[in-house]
Amino acid sequence: MQEQSALATHDPGSLVVGVDVGGTKIAAGVVDAQGQVHGRVQLPTTASQPEETLNTIIAAITSAIQTAGVSFAAIRGVGLGIPGKVDVEQGISLLAVNLGWRDVSVKSHLETALGLPCNVENDVNAAAMGEYLYGVGQGTSNLVYLILGTGVAARIMIAGQIYRGSNGLAGEIGHAQFAVDGPQCRCGGKGCLEALAAGPALAQRAQETVRSGAPSSLRAVLAQHPKLTAEQVCEAARQGDQLARQIITAAGQHVAHAIYLLALTYDPQVIVLGGGLAQVEILMETIQTDVARKAEQSPIFREIYHKQLVRLTGLKQDAGILGAAALIAAHDRCRQ
Ligand SMILES: [Zn+2]
Repeated sequence: MQEQSALATHDPGSLVVGVDVGGTKIAAGVVDAQGQVHGRVQLPTTASQPEETLNTIIAAITSAIQTAGVSFAAIRGVGLGIPGKVDVEQGISLLAVNLGWRDVSVKSHLETALGLPCNVENDVNAAAMGEYLYGVGQGTSNLVYLILGTGVAARIMIAGQIYRGSNGLAGEIGHAQFAVDGPQCRCGGKGCLEALAAGPALAQRAQETVRSGAPSSLRAVLAQHPKLTAEQVCEAARQGDQLARQIITAAGQHVAHAIYLLALTYDPQVIVLGGGLAQVEILMETIQTDVARKAEQSPIFREIYHKQLVRLTGLKQDAGILGAAALIAAHDRCRQ
């Protein structure tokens, strides 16, 4: 899939390429100084050998540059957002389960092949940097990015840098216990925020409640599918299903509590919500209402809280490309 777009002539080194490497697709695009994406290219991920996937990434980058109608000389560098654990200094993907990668030297491989500087980062970290540089965090000096999807995690940006902590685990609030004796979490803990509010948790909760006999339109859905999905629960809630609404509202209250804790810990200018679940209106409404209520009840939180504190990501379909591009662009901005 390719997209043509007009791009005026650019000074050498004024553009960056952002690459979003996912388990099913690789998306690349050329990003200008204004955060506009040109020459979007999307290729399916070949999940056989790491070498093949790296070649697909090179093909996507080359094709994006050609489609944007610019020369290699105009490109300052390539940023890549990769799922899983990443050694940022060395540019190595330590472990990316859905790519089948372990200890893959992404940076050196691509730099040799392309002759361009490459920066590699975990995709959630890249998304946080994308919000800071191009999204609703633009113009702020600190922000918290909270991803709500198949997992729940926060990323903290201070003065344009990701705060990683001494073990690289800063922001792992998804694995803080929010309910004693709550549901089992995939991390091995119990009652983690992620086990209460992530997509699979909503699906699991709905499935158990329907199976226990609670009335819901999801009963008919479950009759046709072996398992419910978070999308099905969200759709039922949109259609007015009371059970689905209750489950999403309960998740929203837990997320609101996490936001309250993050705000009191980091005092950020903005907390940006991303990930698939952030697009669910009922969840966002619950979060906003609950956070506002906490501000009424807590005098200290009231000093931090303002109506624009919690915001939905503005980057939508280009979030992955822009986040990856920010790895080069933000780096350069910090050096200026
Ligand atoms: Zn956990």
